[in-house]
Amino acid sequence: MYQLQQEAQRPKRITCPHEMESRPKYYGREFYGMISREYADELLAGAEGAYLIRESQRQPGTHTLALRFGHQTLNYRLFYDGKHFVGEKRFESVHDLVTDALITLYIETKAAEYIAKMTTNPIYEHLGYTSLIKDKMVHRLSRVRTEPRRVTFQRDERISSPLVQRGALKDTPEKQCFYEKIHNFKVHTFRGPHWCEYCANFMWGLIAQGVRCSDCGLNVHKQCSKLVPSDCQPDLRRIKKVFSCDLTTLVKAHNTTRPMVVDMCIREIELRGMKSEGLYRVSGFSEHVEDVRLSFDRDGDKADISASAYADINIIAGALKLYLRDLPIPVITFDLYSKFIQAAKLPIAESRLEAIHESLLQLPPAHYETLRYLMAHLKRVTQFEKDNLMTSENLGIVYGPTLMQPPEQNALTTLNDMRQQKLVVQLMIEHEDVLF
Ligand SMILES: [Zn+2]
Ligand SMILES: [Zn+2]
Repeated sequence: MYQLQQEAQRPKRITCPHEMESRPKYYGREFYGMISREYADELLAGAEGAYLIRESQRQPGTHTLALRFGHQTLNYRLFYDGKHFVGEKRFESVHDLVTDALITLYIETKAAEYIAKMTTNPIYEHLGYTSLIKDKMVHRLSRVRTEPRRVTFQRDERISSPLVQRGALKDTPEKQCFYEKIHNFKVHTFRGPHWCEYCANFMWGLIAQGVRCSDCGLNVHKQCSKLVPSDCQPDLRRIKKVFSCDLTTLVKAHNTTRPMVVDMCIREIELRGMKSEGLYRVSGFSEHVEDVRLSFDRDGDKADISASAYADINIIAGALKLYLRDLPIPVITFDLYSKFIQAAKLPIAESRLEAIHESLLQLPPAHYETLRYLMAHLKRVTQFEKDNLMTSENLGIVYGPTLMQPPEQNALTTLNDMRQQKLVVQLMIEHEDVLF
């Protein structure tokens, strides 16, 4: 296929002998003004790769690229907005555009059948980038999560005494993450020849030859990108920030079960802040909270959040809330938001819990694990209520809008849902032992 690209016809510019007054300044002498389709055809006849630009007779003011390929003249509506384009790809010059068009046309004609078959036998599974990039730790990412327990909520039983007793809370400190993550593909222009890491074929064209995952750097054809499994293993070097980074992306990059910010802040708070009055309600000095954010972004899990760095525990509590609030997708994801709100609106306590439990099971695994860990922590916070004066209701008020944000932000929904947001969090804290 690389060979084919080399064989492709080079562009031949057919220039107009007269200076055209109507010539836009971004076109050169290949501009012929308003000539007929037939005349253009005559001018190009016989020379493969020959091209010119004409003004459309049917729609004056619009331009057409006439290009000779496969013994016929192809006509494309040509656009300019600082760059030249006829389709998705944008070019600096018409010459580049034609070069790319000729390569694409040539390869797609010559190798049509081959391209159609290209993806049916990908190298990805048996060779794949897992073995191409050996130094990278890449797990086969089957969806493994702590098997969620089925819970029966019975009317006559006290809600807080579940039929199935769960074992002691495991913090699963061992490093592991089997979460699925989709790749974050963006159109990419490769310098020099590149081959697709999914189908192993050459990526043809001059620009925008394929897509690259901005989290792990996987390079594939655009058509192949739809077939690549959701097994992105983000590369720490590509993840610029800790805050405002997608939750699943961050845990996969750090190879942890939960975002390390959550673990580190909670550990620090449990160490020295559980009795602090107004924990999570009292704000830390915002410049210091911002400071913590910067040091996480800069130093990752080496960030120093100890008492010697920040004596006031409210700064750490504030940083944890900020981290959760700034997630691009909240812990309770946008698409499950209304399910949780509806659940909280149910009149009967048992069905309310049942509906919340159902919704929890649909969360992405990394989000579920984060929420589970956070709720167990908040439950412990309420056990020090005598000192910190924080009830599950207080915490619900604080954490409701932090963990849940409506997909479409508007003042009215936010106001209307506040009661339910609070209730969802309050219930998750009070019944964390049955719900998770
Ligand atoms: Zn990726
Ligand atoms: Zn491919």
